[in-house]
Amino acid sequence: MKVEEIMLRLEAKYAHEREYLQAVREVLESIEIIYNQHPEFEKAKIIERIVEPDRIFTFKVPWHDDRGEIHVNTGYRVQFNNAIGPYKGGFRFHSSVTLSTLKFLGFEQTFKNALTTLPMGGAKGGSDFNPRGKSDAEVMRFCQAFITELWRHIGPDTDVPAGDIGVGSREIGYMYGWYKKLARENTGVLTGKGMTWGGSLIRPEATGFGGVYFVEHILQRQGLSIKDKTVVVSGFGNVAWGAALKATELGAKVIAISGPDGYIYDKTGLNKAKIDYMLYLRATCNDVVQPYSEEFPEAVFFEGRRPWELECDIALPCAIQNELNGDDARQLIDNGVICVAEISNMGCTPEAVALFIKEKKLFAPGKAVNAGGVSVSGLEMTQNAMKLNWTKEEVDDKLKLIMSNIHESCVKYGLQSDGYVDYVRGANIAGFMKVAQAVLEQGLC
Ligand code: GLU
Repeated sequence: MKVEEIMLRLEAKYAHEREYLQAVREVLESIEIIYNQHPEFEKAKIIERIVEPDRIFTFKVPWHDDRGEIHVNTGYRVQFNNAIGPYKGGFRFHSSVTLSTLKFLGFEQTFKNALTTLPMGGAKGGSDFNPRGKSDAEVMRFCQAFITELWRHIGPDTDVPAGDIGVGSREIGYMYGWYKKLARENTGVLTGKGMTWGGSLIRPEATGFGGVYFVEHILQRQGLSIKDKTVVVSGFGNVAWGAALKATELGAKVIAISGPDGYIYDKTGLNKAKIDYMLYLRATCNDVVQPYSEEFPEAVFFEGRRPWELECDIALPCAIQNELNGDDARQLIDNGVICVAEISNMGCTPEAVALFIKEKKLFAPGKAVNAGGVSVSGLEMTQNAMKLNWTKEEVDDKLKLIMSNIHESCVKYGLQSDGYVDYVRGANIAGFMKVAQAVLEQGLC
């Protein structure tokens, strides 16, 4: 396999799908050497089969707002690969969503899900609909129109969607209710459900909690701990909230959160009341973080700026893809950062990743670090299938074990001769080898 040849073919075919091409290139560059030691993969054209999604559904989603005006959005489901289990991955509702976004996320999800050790394939879906500022009734009508198109293609053993940016418990509720009505079954087809109707404890916190457990493993390997470290978090949604909560519980000081309008610097550090306020802000403030500085006067709001300019020990991108670029990486390194872990999917640009690795910084990619969310979704599927609920402690213990196993796999494949662990390489090879082997063993299908 020659990465450049494959990339040239994909670039010609999908010229405008920038994020998808970025995600594929990163994985192919990491696996090239190992892949070429397996002629059976080459013979079965495993790469060519894995980089293309199994199928993509694209559909029109018409809905009307509260004034009766009609709107038309585009809906998608990218069923990427089901070699190791039913398709699994979230829906993203955001005005920036394109097919390229969802193809990159579905591709990443395939390897992320493989890393979790649970039997889940990879998928992603969503729409360019933005729930921010919409009434509950508008969101419900949109969700029902969306599921009306998709319900025949999903199912508890076929494809199990969940949340992502713009899709939380409210949206999952409306979609689950409508699916149940159309399919006439109550089998838990979506994850992230409410606690009284099949949801799992810890699911809302899982992505952030899992990310911090992973960071603890990275640090422990160096004889360090997150306790007393200064942490900068981007975003202020569910993922940032879970990360801030767990980091604070473990004794770290979280000094920043951010939104599309700028960032908050709180030198006193977040506490329980401030972390709870993040949820309130997310639910009420139409995507702006600035009101935090009015509620807590010790905090300062920096308009239009990103938190990576702050001095910190640990940086946790928790918002969106490509939110930390090469210049940000340079600044973090110059300011003495110890560890950068992507809790968002592909949070760092290729330039930033290359710089962290070149300078041998502790850096870990989203597909390993943020796998806690989908892992607890997998545990929700297990509980639904058993028709049982586990306690908070049981789920949390399983999450901890999964994150520890993912960390071990990354070290196994990413350890270099000088002792440095390239977590990007480790995660990509570990995830890829598992999917590739399953695709090979199942024949041409
Ligand atoms: N959207 C989350 C992710 O990126 C969770 C997916 C799920 O729970 O299926 O992994």
